Amino acid sequence: MEKIYLDICSGVPRYVYTGCNHCSSSMGRSLCEFEHRGCCFYYPKFELLNIQRMAKSLKGLQILELIRQKPKTTINRFSIHTQGFFNKESYETYKNTEDFYSDEAPQDKSLLFKTCPFVKDGVGCTIPHNFRDNVCNFFICKEALSDDKVKEAYTPYLEAMQNYIRWVEWENITLQHLLIEEKLNLIDDFKNTIKFLQEIPLDVYEFSNLTPIYISSGNWSKGA
Ligand code: SF4
Ligand code: SF4
Repeated sequence: MEKIYLDICSGVPRYVYTGCNHCSSSMGRSLCEFEHRGCCFYYPKFELLNIQRMAKSLKGLQILELIRQKPKTTINRFSIHTQGFFNKESYETYKNTEDFYSDEAPQDKSLLFKTCPFVKDGVGCTIPHNFRDNVCNFFICKEALSDDKVKEAYTPYLEAMQNYIRWVEWENITLQHLLIEEKLNLIDDFKNTIKFLQEIPLDVYEFSNLTPIYISSGNWSKGA
């Protein structure tokens, strides 16, 4: 039996779906070199709150450095974005196949050829979840939620997530304003921007308590 549950680490929430350990969902299909990367075709973006969390510990600073060192990382004034792997050549060839026009997920078939730079094939994400972006911490594919009863039980999860995301957006705007007041940004003065984020208090959100959702094999036959 699989389950969906809330996990909180260092005040940072994420939703865990145990079926991800043996993903066979169509959203997790891969036609690139990284065969077992689940749905980690996403290119993550790290906003100011993520960066502030990293700035507060040695482990976090090491992760921040790892992100910075990736060849396709772009440092923006108030965020960091890393592009991943895209096998464009295979994608162009694939466009000439019937499979390209199938209704099967993902709708954007280029995702079949993309991989996040932080996933280890068959192992998972190399970034601790308290530093990941919200998409990474909350995404659960439609197939895992396909049963009506599961979908209904998941409603409080959706509400709790939406409230949290609103709070994160507000925190990011606040941090941005504080940095502007100090005339700091990540492009012009990375070191002092991180130092400033380190020194100001880190706000922690009180996330709602959520009951785990159990999914029997009868309800979830695709076994993702
Ligand atoms: S969320 Fe769905 S597609 Fe993504 S890894 Fe889990 S089972 Fe696979
Ligand atoms: S950062 Fe981690 S969880 Fe997010 S897409 Fe990359 S490997 Fe997956």
